[in-house]
Amino acid sequence: MQPGRAASDSVAGSFGGRMTGTDTQDQSCVIVGASHAGAQLALSLRRDGWEGAIVLIGEEDCLPYHRPPLSKDYLSGSKSFESILIRKADAYEKAGVDVRLGVRVEAIDRQAKSLALSTGETLAYDKLALAIGARVRRIPVPGLDKAGVYGLRTVADIAGIQNAASGAGKAVIVGGGYIGLETAASLRKMGLEVTVLEMLPRVLGRVTAPEVSAFYTRVHREEGVEILTGAGVSEIVGGGAVAAVRCADGSEHPADLVILGTGIVPNVELAEAAGLKVGNGIVVDACARTSDPDIVAAGDCTFHPSALYGGDVRLESVQNATDQAKTASATICGKPEPYAALPWFWSDQFDLKLQIAGLSQGYDDLVIRGDIAGSRSFSAWYFAGEKLLAVDAVNDTRSFMLAKKLLTTGTPVNKSIIADPAADLKASLLG
Ligand SMILES: Cc1cc2nc3c(=O)[nH]c(=O)nc-3n(C[C@H](O)[C@H](O)[C@H](O)COP(=O)(O)OP(=O)(O)OC[C@H]3O[C@@H](n4cnc5c(N)ncnc54)[C@H](O)[C@@H]3O)c2cc1C
Repeated sequence: MQPGRAASDSVAGSFGGRMTGTDTQDQSCVIVGASHAGAQLALSLRRDGWEGAIVLIGEEDCLPYHRPPLSKDYLSGSKSFESILIRKADAYEKAGVDVRLGVRVEAIDRQAKSLALSTGETLAYDKLALAIGARVRRIPVPGLDKAGVYGLRTVADIAGIQNAASGAGKAVIVGGGYIGLETAASLRKMGLEVTVLEMLPRVLGRVTAPEVSAFYTRVHREEGVEILTGAGVSEIVGGGAVAAVRCADGSEHPADLVILGTGIVPNVELAEAAGLKVGNGIVVDACARTSDPDIVAAGDCTFHPSALYGGDVRLESVQNATDQAKTASATICGKPEPYAALPWFWSDQFDLKLQIAGLSQGYDDLVIRGDIAGSRSFSAWYFAGEKLLAVDAVNDTRSFMLAKKLLTTGTPVNKSIIADPAADLKASLLG
């Protein structure tokens, strides 16, 4: 046995020890899922000293790309596919990453440490990283299979939507979450009539305060989007192609095109079938380790402890996919560091740039700075007691940047300063 192999065997089965290049040069790390988390992991592994083979396998037949523009500038046609690539092909070549696209991993054999691929091949691994993300939630209503009904998760979905939108007059979006509202804004910009059907009493009901929901409802209506709440969809009606969306109250909303903004479900089946622990995602610890010491996971597919907020969370954001992938890479390379990054997120709709720092769930008090009822710029500060949890900042990057700093450092925040429109926040809160 080669010395390198023997050394690596001594740490196989445990991510605890510090590895060196010699330890890893005869090993193979396979990453399943070629998107934000997978691409970051592949490139971080080299920076973290992994000298062995890196194989990045992706089911989609294109290089990893930024998903957020899909409901924004890429949908409306102002960005090309080239411009949304996470990295150009040569970045993977330079890092010696073997990228295999259009290939699905069908099963994991943890005993044999191998993968069954859709090509019929079997691929061995020493370390495995699951970055398999999530897929659009299909709501259980009849008619979803009609032509003209789309999920919105991949560039392939966008090709279909753009094609349908080019000859369409009227689009219905099912679900008033971020993706639903972003899509509404983009399709409106493209000249379509747009209706958003939201089952809950308000849009963004799961992620923002009622005041922020009311703000987005106002702006969308000002821009000509019809927003209907308490509108639970019961059927997609039509012949082979969609003609309308019917709601539980019997109302019908004509549609040439229907887009499901109905949330996502994490892809856990591959992990579950292999006997890994899953919950609301693939369960990992703070260092991105699954219940198998040779398998890590990162991104939208994981259910992980939150260092800043306590409990376990599943996050759907580029920040999380990127930062957790870095954690997973460090773990694979024997330098585990618990993941403790502040969650942050953004959403672009019309001329609104929303930036969110932190997680607002569990808040009991909200302080608004700015004219949320009449303008298009404000910040909403979420507190639990005296503790700042999160900030939504609309067209107010300064508040977002400040909030990131305050939340990361755990600096106490005096609510009366936030509430004082004349206060210089940075000077008053950071000194
Ligand atoms: C329209 C849209 C807009 C968004 N806007 C924002 C935003 O403004 N800000 C923000 O922070 N986040 C946004 N997000 C969320 C963000 O894109 C996700 O959090 C991010 O893509 C997660 O990356 P990931 O690598 O974990 O998973 P994913 O991007 O879901 O990628 C997983 C990949 O794994 C592949 N895969 C799955 N199973 C297998 C298998 N068995 N074999 C091979 N490959 C497999 C999938 O095909 C996919 O390519 C948006 C998402 C969408 C869809």
